[in-house]
Amino acid sequence: MGKPETGNKHDPSEPARSLNFIEEIVEDDLRTGKYDGRVHTRFPPEPNGYLHIGHAKSICLNFGLAAQYPGGKCNLRFDDTNPVKEEQEYIDSIIEDVRWLGFDWEDRLCYASDYFESMYQYAVQLLRAGKAYVCDLTAEQTREYRGTLTQPGRESPYRNRSVEENLDLFARMRAGDFKDGSRTLRAKIDMASPNLNLRDPVMYRILRATHPRTGDEWCLYPMYDWAHGLEDAIESITHSICTLEFENHRPLYDWFLEQLGVYRPRQIEFARLEMTHTVMSKRKLLELVREGHVRAWDDPRMPTLSGMRRRGYTPQAIRNFCSRIGVNKVNSTVDIALLEHCIREDLNRCAPRVMGVLRPLKVVINNYPEDQAEELEAVNNPEDPAMGTRRVPFSRVLYIEQDDFREDPPPKYFRLAPGREVRLRYAYYVKCTGVVRDPRTGEVVELHCTYDPATRGGDSPDGRKVKATLHWVSAAHSLPAEVRLYDPLFAKEDPGDVPEGADYKNNLKPDSIEIVTSCRVEPGLAGAAPGSRYQFERLGYFCVDSDSRPDALVFNRTSTLRDTWARIEKSQKT
Ligand code: ATP
Ligand code: MG
Repeated sequence: MGKPETGNKHDPSEPARSLNFIEEIVEDDLRTGKYDGRVHTRFPPEPNGYLHIGHAKSICLNFGLAAQYPGGKCNLRFDDTNPVKEEQEYIDSIIEDVRWLGFDWEDRLCYASDYFESMYQYAVQLLRAGKAYVCDLTAEQTREYRGTLTQPGRESPYRNRSVEENLDLFARMRAGDFKDGSRTLRAKIDMASPNLNLRDPVMYRILRATHPRTGDEWCLYPMYDWAHGLEDAIESITHSICTLEFENHRPLYDWFLEQLGVYRPRQIEFARLEMTHTVMSKRKLLELVREGHVRAWDDPRMPTLSGMRRRGYTPQAIRNFCSRIGVNKVNSTVDIALLEHCIREDLNRCAPRVMGVLRPLKVVINNYPEDQAEELEAVNNPEDPAMGTRRVPFSRVLYIEQDDFREDPPPKYFRLAPGREVRLRYAYYVKCTGVVRDPRTGEVVELHCTYDPATRGGDSPDGRKVKATLHWVSAAHSLPAEVRLYDPLFAKEDPGDVPEGADYKNNLKPDSIEIVTSCRVEPGLAGAAPGSRYQFERLGYFCVDSDSRPDALVFNRTSTLRDTWARIEKSQKT
């Protein structure tokens, strides 16, 4: 893989933007030579779920920062310290997603589990220095002894064990002499510290669980705070970027590394991404999958990168989104309309236009010869002439959208109606001369029209104007397709806004997916490969789903064409 295009590199054609607070720290460190001019970051997911759009923010930040500076590096590191929740499936999906976003870790794919032995040896070093001890309190007792924000904790009765006893017990913990949960290794810091994280935090627990990489080699697993700083130190990370919840873990991060006398990266906290109409925690996303509220992790309604990919999002759109939201120190919630704006903006630029009819209404052009067909030239992308043109077949029997005809048109409805003339895109003017009804229901099932041969291509030589242009397909030439329409999973802006006793699932929208099965699309889409993205003229952006087969096309609607964000932005400016 070549150097990734991160969207963060400074493009000389764009005005220079001001540095964010993390870049300021990095540039300061470069000026003072703190890390010998190195910039080395990491993206450290725990492989206990699929990545979501919040992770994309962290990925773009970490990989983007490294790419900004000469020689900058970013590791992809699996923080695989909790085998109970971690799986190879998640590791594989994370690798796929980070690569898809366009980032490259070169030969720096790291696993915390590769450092288990070193971590163990570092723990022995702390034990020898009298800075850690084996504790026999149960989990519940440990919690109880810990105290609260307003009350200091109490010291464990095992706190003053001798170094020899501690070393012996710790070795036996590793050897499997003790039951799960019966003992822990704890740092000996300060049970009265106002920062609860410093009240003798647990470093190791006994846990018999098969690890995806180390199998049954260990029955002792390190806790996050102990492991994470060591991972960063072992990899010579310069700037260890994490989310704000870890701000008051930083003293512990620093304490461990200081006691060990090892290299010390700098932890920097930034605000995590939250988005309206979206839940953004792996625990909740897993719940949605397990309980069948969505089809899978890559359900196109999910905020996961795999779901967004399946829905039709481009890596570029996601990177643009991350660069627009920026990096900050205060938590806030981003409007999902901004994300949608970014995908429209990108697909408008790169998606070929096609015609597809979601809910077909048959139209017979009475004055068009029965056995005739012709091909009309259609523009593939008005935003990009280099994408050229294609030929679309036209014949006597067509389909238009049911919505584009009203027998009794209300004011301002300019589309087709009895006696009215409209333009068929790239084709002709047609005028509605009659309707055919279902004798039972009275519903209009077919229209009769005449066309004006002089308007071929869509303009009238006599300067006659029409007020609407409709998309259409030729009935005989078009292909059947299924189209899946999506709404947000949660109708409420804040899915967590629920009555007492209920949870976010209370806000799941029951009709967030609508499957339309009788669609017709232009024949050029025959065999379209899963992942291909199009604009269906007048309808929105659509992407071929992985369920699609050459003879049974399936599309996901990525987004509609209407851009609510542009309006929001405008209203904010005025
Ligand atoms: P979740 O809360 O969804 O389970 P996590 O923080 O437990 O997320 P990790 O696998 O530990 O998930 O996350 C890997 C990296 O991604 C971490 O550095 C974390 O700070 C970052 N990250 C996770 N969620 C977000 C978010 N919503 N916005 C920005 N960064 C995030
Ligand atoms: Mg985490």
